[in-house]
Amino acid sequence: MTASTFDAKHLWHPYTNVIKPGPTHKVASAKGVHLTLDDGTRMIDAMSSWWSAIHGYGQPTIIQAVKDQVGCMPHVMFGGLTHDPAISLGQKLLAITPPSMQRIFYSDSGSVAVEVAMKMAVQYQHATGHPDKTQFITVRSGYHGDTWKAMSVCDPVTGMHHLFQNALSIQHFALKPPINITGEWDDDPVKNGLADLRQLLESHHQTIAALILEPVVQGAGGMYFYHPEYLNQARALCDAFNILLIFDEIATGFGRTGKMFATELTTVEPDILCLGKALTGGTMSFAATLSSDKVAIGIGNGNPGVFMHGPTFMANPLACAAACASLDLLETTPWQANVDAIETQLTHELAPLRSLPQVFDVRVLGAIGVIEMNHQVSADQAHPLCKEFGVWLRPFGRHIYCMPPFVISSDELSQVTHAMGKLVEVL
Ligand code: PMP
Repeated sequence: MTASTFDAKHLWHPYTNVIKPGPTHKVASAKGVHLTLDDGTRMIDAMSSWWSAIHGYGQPTIIQAVKDQVGCMPHVMFGGLTHDPAISLGQKLLAITPPSMQRIFYSDSGSVAVEVAMKMAVQYQHATGHPDKTQFITVRSGYHGDTWKAMSVCDPVTGMHHLFQNALSIQHFALKPPINITGEWDDDPVKNGLADLRQLLESHHQTIAALILEPVVQGAGGMYFYHPEYLNQARALCDAFNILLIFDEIATGFGRTGKMFATELTTVEPDILCLGKALTGGTMSFAATLSSDKVAIGIGNGNPGVFMHGPTFMANPLACAAACASLDLLETTPWQANVDAIETQLTHELAPLRSLPQVFDVRVLGAIGVIEMNHQVSADQAHPLCKEFGVWLRPFGRHIYCMPPFVISSDELSQVTHAMGKLVEVL
């Protein structure tokens, strides 16, 4: 049996039917912005490995940090023990996140970081005398991960609710904020979406622990961008109804929108912040849930006081070392100028596609370029074409999009936009 046949027969890939598993490319190595396949084909990774490899692959300082750490101590438990990589990373995170974020809970992946955030919210409400506040509110078209509680706040139609309907917790869904990032803020609460949010909060606030949102960019739920003013006003509603505000910056964090965090596009801060994906520069799975002192001390003063979560690989030193090196790169490289240049070039090169009849919309923010089609597109159909164009793209829903590494050159980015245009023609 060849390696590829073994893969198709025995390895489950994401969102895949084992009977008809769909095509896979075998990657031999990754360096800079390129993936090299085992037949020698090179493709620019315009997906940054699901939006995480912001510095490209094989950054020497990240590799060296991991090598040094693996020789010294790849892992120790975090219960009753601590270590320098966790402490250094904590110091670096507090220096760049909103000032009210003061307590850090490390975990294994983005979905777990969301689970932790939701548990914090419920435990905080319980500890502060509101044991009935156990549900969550969010907006349509969101995505927060594939584990149980995270899945319950993903979009109920495009997400997995229909499949797991009877097993998922019931949550509240307000209308999706209108797509509007650059335009004027519309003060009409019906048009800007806040009337619906307010109405749901008025009706259900006694049972709601927190509002969870992806600030400004809704990623896997539809690649929509909405106005930051929505978040400012949502913050005020949360305060009025004693509801915590969770920002899920797992996709937007670490520069993707042109700001270090999308929160910086607003004038407010969340009570709880989820980080993941680019935290280690895409080197390995790792995540963090940060909270304000209000939340952490509220939980601490309650009964039992301890926060009831503690994964085996919490604060894994290897992941902390990779994350420290990645954050150092963000500090020492001109990532913001790179993201600005990517935004300008994407805006310019994708604009002509807007007038095509099969295209519904073209949107660009920071290092995110989205072509929304009028019809569903198939990742499997795009698959062989990616090899032909030398660009790795993985469309989903009605979206052909790119989220390239910040170190991509202008010529390489043109190759990406050219490939996106070709996919628009043929998919
Ligand atoms: N939240 C958001 C906003 C995400 O985009 C994702 C992943 N696409 C997650 C949570 C889940 O992260 P992970 O896949 O690492 O569990």
